Amino acid sequence: MFKKITVIAVLMFAFCIPKIQAKNCENVLFQDSVKRYEPGKSYVFKVNAASGEYANAIEYIAGDVKSKLILTSPHGGDLKPEFMHTRTKEFVAKTDDNDFGDTESFSGISDSKTLELTMELADEIKRTTGLRPHIILNHLHRSKLDANRAMSLASQGDENAEAAWKAFHQYIDDAKQQVAKNGDGLLLDIHGNAHRPQRTEVGLLLKGKDFTNENLEQFADKSSVKAMVKSGKATMADLVKGDYALGTLLSNNGVLATPSKSNPDPIDAQVFPDGRYFNGGYNTARHGSRFSGNISAIQLEFNGDVRMNDKTRPGYVKSISKVISQFMTKYFN
Ligand SMILES: [Zn+2]
Repeated sequence: MFKKITVIAVLMFAFCIPKIQAKNCENVLFQDSVKRYEPGKSYVFKVNAASGEYANAIEYIAGDVKSKLILTSPHGGDLKPEFMHTRTKEFVAKTDDNDFGDTESFSGISDSKTLELTMELADEIKRTTGLRPHIILNHLHRSKLDANRAMSLASQGDENAEAAWKAFHQYIDDAKQQVAKNGDGLLLDIHGNAHRPQRTEVGLLLKGKDFTNENLEQFADKSSVKAMVKSGKATMADLVKGDYALGTLLSNNGVLATPSKSNPDPIDAQVFPDGRYFNGGYNTARHGSRFSGNISAIQLEFNGDVRMNDKTRPGYVKSISKVISQFMTKYFN
């Protein structure tokens, strides 16, 4: 058993670098600051040890007032505070802990470089469109907190991890509330996969076998983009394999992606014989429009070549930012 530590949940303005260090930063109460985020400013939720040691666990950089875009990075961090429990695959999750149909299994391996990718995409989108998206980042390593799981599986009972998990999702809820003032919007949950052959996977909560069905529209109600379809902005077929589907736009810009116009079936054995496909997870379900609201969500699972190499990633960041901007212009203008 790990030692439980009493936690005072505080929010801290990010005047400090997000690393593990001794306490010395200015703090404000989490609840007090929810309604007054300044665009471009960084807000950090820290986890604490009784000794005073802490880690800047969760970061929210507020987007511009007119932005309809939210980017999230739930398990790309690298901080491993020793005072936090290390997650194990033996942990049995509470079955009553999940209202969003997440059945994903345990992993303690971070999606490498997705945190960097998310921050770089936000900067590039701001530079090229003038609108800074909202970004929410989990700086903790996945072995300490997996922010794309229901709480018990995510934190395995560690009080600091639970508090950080709550902060991560509270920041997303706050960002969604701001975006909703503009009508509707989109959340992109940024991930990395290691499937072979390499490809980027677009997750809309449709299962692999659904994509060969002639009538994709029947799946709108269970998709994370339900609001886009119900509002008449797009059909499911548009969003899966149309000219402006994210997978199609990515493939047209040098990032092979599926589902898309050229690869509409992500488990097509001729093209992807490993049969693997990530169709979306806890965040896509909870924060998309499957269950409620006008904010839709899409999981983007980038392959290694796109994100791992610090020298080539900037080129991909430009391409992906262009794709996201094209998608936003088409569907959220
Ligand atoms: Zn992931």
